[in-house]
Amino acid sequence: MVEFTVLASGSRGNSAVLSAGSTRILLDAGLSARELCRRMQGCGIDPATLDAILITHEHSDHVRGLGAMARRLGVPVYLTEATHREWRRIVCPQPKQTYAQWLEALRARKAAAQQAGQPDGRPGELESVAAGLALAAEAADGPESGLLETEALVTEALETDALESDQSATEAAGPEAAGQKSGNAAHLPEVCYLKPGEPFSLGAIEVHPFTIPHDAADPVGYVFRAEGVRVGVATDLGYVPPNVAAQLQGCDLLMLESNHDLDMLRDGPYPWSVKQRVLSRVGHLSNDAAAEFLEQNWDGRAGWVILAHLSESNNLPEIARLTAERALERHAASLFGRQLLLAQQDEPLSPIAL
Ligand SMILES: [Zn+2]
Ligand SMILES: [Zn+2]
Repeated sequence: MVEFTVLASGSRGNSAVLSAGSTRILLDAGLSARELCRRMQGCGIDPATLDAILITHEHSDHVRGLGAMARRLGVPVYLTEATHREWRRIVCPQPKQTYAQWLEALRARKAAAQQAGQPDGRPGELESVAAGLALAAEAADGPESGLLETEALVTEALETDALESDQSATEAAGPEAAGQKSGNAAHLPEVCYLKPGEPFSLGAIEVHPFTIPHDAADPVGYVFRAEGVRVGVATDLGYVPPNVAAQLQGCDLLMLESNHDLDMLRDGPYPWSVKQRVLSRVGHLSNDAAAEFLEQNWDGRAGWVILAHLSESNNLPEIARLTAERALERHAASLFGRQLLLAQQDEPLSPIAL
């Protein structure tokens, strides 16, 4: 039997569990490890039976409990290399320094190495390396810091302790302990890199990761296949490009983002820059965009449709449901008895048996 359970969905945390035969995977870990375990147990799922954690992208509402959960269960984490790198950078931020400070530190290291009798570098090497690295640091600083700030606003919860609750405790123990611990915070028992477009097997489950348009390092959606059942998951995407539409055909269960109502977003509380980001091609899918896909670009086969990642500030469950219902009714292959569900932020959906 294949079973799909949404533990949480929305800008304050996303996670779901997929089970097939004796294989069980956690898709995203966007709540604290404690809360993830609590919700799983409430759904009759023993967290100790998880075989792996799969990640869509590094935004905090998808990875908040990742490190703690993976270490607690000792399970491998599957994600793209770029997502892993970005996650590590967020979990273990490097101390900020000016170019002058950095150059001074480099010179000091160089002088110490010379005093220790190590071979000298080529003349001029220091300056050219320094200039190159400074440029790289500058390039890395600009858009990324803006993105994080924006994401923090958009996730509707500025949680500086989001990644791990134990981080702040160790910082209280002094900088050295904090440094050691922040190193540990990025430790995962096993990391497996996946590539969009390259399917792989996890026990009884075939995993098909595919690229989605979203402002993260290398975000992916997933289609899972097991026991003849196909489950498609696509949230956090600015629009539905042809590659995503193609993946989401033939599903028995489809979980699709229905993030915001366009009018509510335009008239809502977000600053204009954040509104632009949400509305952009790498932002989030509106109710109307989700409905347009469901009506016009989708085969309509799935018996289960779950609307997910609803904004709490810029959407209402009734509007999202009505918009999708109308689209599904207008669909040529309208199914009698199809279940349309809304994933919740604060409580799990009942497990769906497929
Ligand atoms: Zn995101
Ligand atoms: Zn998200």
